[in-house]
Amino acid sequence: MKNRERFIKQVEGAVLGSVVGDALGVPAEFMSRREMQKHPVTAMRSGGAHQQPAGTWSDDTSMVLCTMDSLMEHGVDYEDQMQRFSRWLSAAENTAHGEVFDVGITVQKAIHCFDRGRPPVFCGDKAENACGNGSLMRIFPTALYLCGQYSLESLDHHAAEIIHNTSYCTHAHPRCLMACGIFCNVIFALCSGKPLQEAVQRGVSDALAYYRRTDFFRWVYREFTSLQSIHRWREQEVKSSGFVLHTLQAALWCLLTTKSYDQCVLKAVNLGEDTDTTAAVAGALAGLWYGKEQIPPDWRCVTAHYDEIEERARRFAETIVPEKNRPDPTFRKISRISRVLSVYHLILHCPEGISMEGLRLSLDGCTKTFQRDIALLRQAGENIRVRSKGRVYFLDQGTYAHPAPIKNRIQERLVQKLRRLCLVMREIPWENCDKWYRETFPHVSRRTMQRDFAQLNALGYEIRYDRWPDYNPFDEDAIPPKEGRY
Ligand SMILES: [Mg+2]
Repeated sequence: MKNRERFIKQVEGAVLGSVVGDALGVPAEFMSRREMQKHPVTAMRSGGAHQQPAGTWSDDTSMVLCTMDSLMEHGVDYEDQMQRFSRWLSAAENTAHGEVFDVGITVQKAIHCFDRGRPPVFCGDKAENACGNGSLMRIFPTALYLCGQYSLESLDHHAAEIIHNTSYCTHAHPRCLMACGIFCNVIFALCSGKPLQEAVQRGVSDALAYYRRTDFFRWVYREFTSLQSIHRWREQEVKSSGFVLHTLQAALWCLLTTKSYDQCVLKAVNLGEDTDTTAAVAGALAGLWYGKEQIPPDWRCVTAHYDEIEERARRFAETIVPEKNRPDPTFRKISRISRVLSVYHLILHCPEGISMEGLRLSLDGCTKTFQRDIALLRQAGENIRVRSKGRVYFLDQGTYAHPAPIKNRIQERLVQKLRRLCLVMREIPWENCDKWYRETFPHVSRRTMQRDFAQLNALGYEIRYDRWPDYNPFDEDAIPPKEGRY
């Protein structure tokens, strides 16, 4: 993470922004837009459908706090997240005043399924009428976690899998999964520090490009394309029901059509209907972008457990972004060929095979990058196979294929180089490396040999090709050659 302090501020802003938005929306929940226009919310209120004191937040914040606690203690652990949701529902843990007064039907059903022993990711309802915003409202801590841990700037397969599984626990319809994915990608873009409009547009369009490629989402894909022009919508076009797509649209619209945190959340609340969730989702984005300092002090001091949540948000932020962020920054600087060779080295030296997670922990890159690297190695004739259980990659030694003919000359040269270097990595002897090399590759120039060895030495192979003919071990003044192969 390039700017740890900035990221910590963004996380605090997102958490507190969402909590305050939720609390502003609670007393106005279920009110129509017309009613809101007559009596717009301008400050913290009490009463409303739930008859709660001013500053009381609801299920949205409770589930966000459960998710944050779980991510802090266990990383991504769906079982633990669901256990915490279950304790919230049954024992009122993580509630504003020790009472659960607001819970969605789909969330309630999923938690009951989990309590009866169903695995967490199979608890969510897939039905067409179960497309509420219950997973969208609690997904942003997961997005921040992924951003902190992996310095993500855009959605990849690994991140999408975690985001979708998190949604699956309560909401399993592809529409809910895709809404969560797009929302998280907007968060990744906002965290990267681009200007607001550009970040949101980039976040939406990159996520759409990702989902367009996946058959599973094809039939809901079209519903989301309108998000690309959301900043131009008029208020009448923006709906604010509990339908997941409406909440996502409303939140992005409020963010893009206002210029401060309070304007954004008040606009979200005054759209009416599912006011608390719309404001919680919009509040997370606005809080992340404008920072917690922009939350008006008179709202802060009314919000239930504000100081405690502020402290917890700080702790969450510090936990999810390690002091010395993995992956090691030196990995960022390595060239593509060095990365491909590093992947090959790991596969070569793990006879039991190495999983995608293992590659990600060792090198900087996402699943897709490594899949491309492995495809390139296969093209160079390396027989890398995948064991389906756990998707472990291993080298089937002794069965090397001839590389397929390639039309692109640059690609062809790269593949030839890789083929040569892989063979060197596999078979180079401990002594007389240069002799072995010249015999193995008689048509390759000495300069290329030096370059190849330098390439491998950069990865720690310590191949030395300059002989030391004048070295006399009995001469006390002579400098002995360095350790390594000759
Ligand atoms: Mg609520």
